[in-house]
Amino acid sequence: PYDLTGKRVWVAGHRGMVGSALVRRLAREPVADVVTATSAEVDLRRQEPTERFVADERPDVVLLAAAKVGGIEANRTAQAEFLYDNLMIAANVIEAARRVGVERFVVLGSSCVYPREAPQPIAESSLLTGPLEPTNEGYAVAKIAALELAKFYRRQHGMDAISLMPSNLYGPNDNFDPTGSHVLAALLRKVHLAKVTGAPSVPVWGTGTPRREFLHVDDLADATVHALCHHAGEEHLNVGWGDDVTIRAVAELICEVVGYDGELAFDTSMPDGMPRKLLDTSRMQALGWQPRIGLREGLTDAYRWFVDHVAERV
Ligand code: GDP
Repeated sequence: PYDLTGKRVWVAGHRGMVGSALVRRLAREPVADVVTATSAEVDLRRQEPTERFVADERPDVVLLAAAKVGGIEANRTAQAEFLYDNLMIAANVIEAARRVGVERFVVLGSSCVYPREAPQPIAESSLLTGPLEPTNEGYAVAKIAALELAKFYRRQHGMDAISLMPSNLYGPNDNFDPTGSHVLAALLRKVHLAKVTGAPSVPVWGTGTPRREFLHVDDLADATVHALCHHAGEEHLNVGWGDDVTIRAVAELICEVVGYDGELAFDTSMPDGMPRKLLDTSRMQALGWQPRIGLREGLTDAYRWFVDHVAERV
């Protein structure tokens, strides 16, 4: 296995939900340094400052968690930005890493890279076999480019780059913005507000019938360190919980976690997006990795984080 002892690890995007989870997880490894930069310090969409930063810092390992992310509505309405920003970040960071000769590089993607009609559970080999879900096509194309870059940098330049495709993520440092967020953060916030204001119902987008697989971000961080140390190869790896739930069921679970007994009001003028995107996670299992944080436990943790860090300001 790859030994992290004494390594300098750059977590690109360390303030985000994924990056901050990686920083927490790396605190338990014998690394020499965790290198970070805020987006105000280094705009990764720009090649020159990105290359200057990497040449100065000379990391041994790069974990690419920097991205412009958002839920279904943010993605749908800003596809140009989601494509441009994420494409530039991926291209700039991997080329900067090649120039200084990093030892290991990890691309963090998303299950939205897979075709809308992919057979479930979705195997890694479904990539690029059919049309994408239109609500997040811009983001998905950028993430597909990122994992193809990793593959081709391995083939052409011998860079030891791997890619991980997690299912829908949640946890501390999630974005709880009401329009830009993903479903769990949005519902934790909306249900909390309904509880404190005594509202009779909570609006839930779509029909409630789509199914999603939710993974706590601390499980993804653990999987990332595991794959970094135990996997080398050009095919990307799925990282998931192994089971999915309907949006209605998870909304009901959130009502229980928050302690709210009002109604769910489904707003069918809002999009459902992908009908289902359950990942086939047998390759990660074969590498000896399993998730640990179940949905009820994970949502309880995410709700506690929301109450401690965000709730006073909503
Ligand atoms: P997706 O997995 O890319 O579709 O991302 P989301 O997490 O944004 O949405 C997942 C599902 O939850 C979709 O079917 C949404 O319509 C549904 N959903 C229900 N209520 C909400 C909400 O308040 N915010 C978001 N973002 N999605 C919601």
